[in-house]
Amino acid sequence: MKIFILNSGSSSVKFQLIETDQHMIETASDRRLASGQVEKIGADDAIITFESVTTRDFERHVQAIYDHKTAIAKIISLLTDHGLVGAESPIEAIGHRVVHGGERFSSSTLMTEEAVRAIEDCVVLAPLHNPHNLKGYYVCRELFPNLPQVGVFDTAFHQTMPPEAFLYALPYSQYKQHQIRRYGFHGVSHRYVAYRYRQITRAPKDTCNLITCHLGNGCSITAIENGNSVDTSMGMTPLEGLVMGTRTGDLDAAVVVYMMLQEELTASDVTNLLMKQSGLYGISGESNDMRQLMISMVEGHARAKLAIDMFCYRLRKYIGAYTAILGRVDALIFTGGIGENASLVREKSCDRLQSIGYEIDREKNQAVKEGDIATKKSRSRIFVIPTNEEVLIARDTYRTILKIPQPQVVAGEVSA
Ligand code: ADP
Repeated sequence: MKIFILNSGSSSVKFQLIETDQHMIETASDRRLASGQVEKIGADDAIITFESVTTRDFERHVQAIYDHKTAIAKIISLLTDHGLVGAESPIEAIGHRVVHGGERFSSSTLMTEEAVRAIEDCVVLAPLHNPHNLKGYYVCRELFPNLPQVGVFDTAFHQTMPPEAFLYALPYSQYKQHQIRRYGFHGVSHRYVAYRYRQITRAPKDTCNLITCHLGNGCSITAIENGNSVDTSMGMTPLEGLVMGTRTGDLDAAVVVYMMLQEELTASDVTNLLMKQSGLYGISGESNDMRQLMISMVEGHARAKLAIDMFCYRLRKYIGAYTAILGRVDALIFTGGIGENASLVREKSCDRLQSIGYEIDREKNQAVKEGDIATKKSRSRIFVIPTNEEVLIARDTYRTILKIPQPQVVAGEVSA
C-alpha cells in the first residue's frame, strides 16, 4: 500500500512516500519511494527538495509558496510527474506526525472528527506544533476527501509511564487542573529502534528491557520494560532531560525565576533563552552542531570540549539512573544524528559504566552502522540503530486503516 507521510510544521512540510504491507513490516522491507520537503512556506523564495527512486539526482526548486495547501499540492504534482502516484497506483492513505496527544492518545488513531477535536484540545499543550500538524491534515482532507488519514503521536508511546515517573512533585491540583505532568516525546523513534532491536535479535517483547537514546538536535532517553516506556527524560515539554543542541535539558526551576528577576526577562525572552540559546550552543558559544564541536575540540577550543563533556556526562547520568529503574537491561541503543554517527559521544557516555554492565568495543564502535558495539564480556548489549520514524508512521497508518491491532499499551493511571 502506498502511504503519504506528512510532517507539517509552521513554515515547512516534510514528506515521504512509503510502500508497506504486513509482509514488508515483518521483513523490514518497506520501501521509501520518495522524500523531501518544502521550506520557507510564506516566502517568495520557498525551497522545495525532492528525491525519489525514479530520479537520479536530488532536485531543488525555488519558487514563491505562500501557504501549506500550495506546498502540499506541489509535492503531489512532483510525485505524479515522476510516475510515483497516478490513477493506476494512487496514494491509499495519509499518515501525519502529530506532536502532542496528551493523555487522550496512547496509540495512533484514525483522524475522525472526534479524534481531530481531541487533537485540537491538545493544542494548549503544544501550541507551537499541534496547530501546524493539524493544518497538514486539513489541507489533505481538502485535496483527498476520500482518503483515510491517521495521526501518529510523539507522546503516545510514553503513556505507559507510571504516575511516580510522570508526575512532578508539584501540588497535585496542578496536574488535575492544568494537565501539568511529564508526557515525553520522540516516542515514534524510541518505539522504532526498540522494535528494530527485537527484530534483529529475535528477543521477545514481553521480557525485553531496553534503554534507548535518541540523540539528534533534540535529545531524549527512554527506559523500556517489556516493550513499554516506563520513564523518559523529556517532560511536559521537550525542554527537560538531556543537554540538547540549543536546549538546557534539566535545570533548577528556581533559576528561571531568578533570571527573570535579575535581567527583567519576559516569559518569551526566557523561553527563547532556554529553548534556543542554551545547550551545546549556549555552552560552546559557537554551534549547536555536534560535528562542528568535535572539530573545534580537536583544534583546542576549550568550550567546545566543555559542551561535549557536559552532553556526555548528563547522558551517562541518565543511563545509570535508568539502569537502576530497570534492574536488568538487555541493550542500550543509540540513535539519531549524534547517536548514529558520533562514536566519540557513545564512548564518552559509556565511560566508567562497565561496573553496571556496559562495555564498548572500540573497534566496533568505529565501524558498525547498525548492530552491536559491545565487547563480548559486556553484561548488556550496546547497539547502534538508525532511526526511521517515517516508516513507523507508515506502518501504523497501514495497521490502523486495516484495523490490524497495533501494539496495545495500558496507560499509566493515577488511582488516587
Ligand atoms: P533532528 O533532531 O533535527 O532530526 P538529527 O537526528 O539529524 O537532528 O541530528 C542532528 C545532529 O546530529 C547534529 O548535532 C549533527 O551535528 C549530528 N551529526 C550528524 N552527523 C554526524 C556525524 N557524522 N558525526 C557527529 N555528529 C553528527
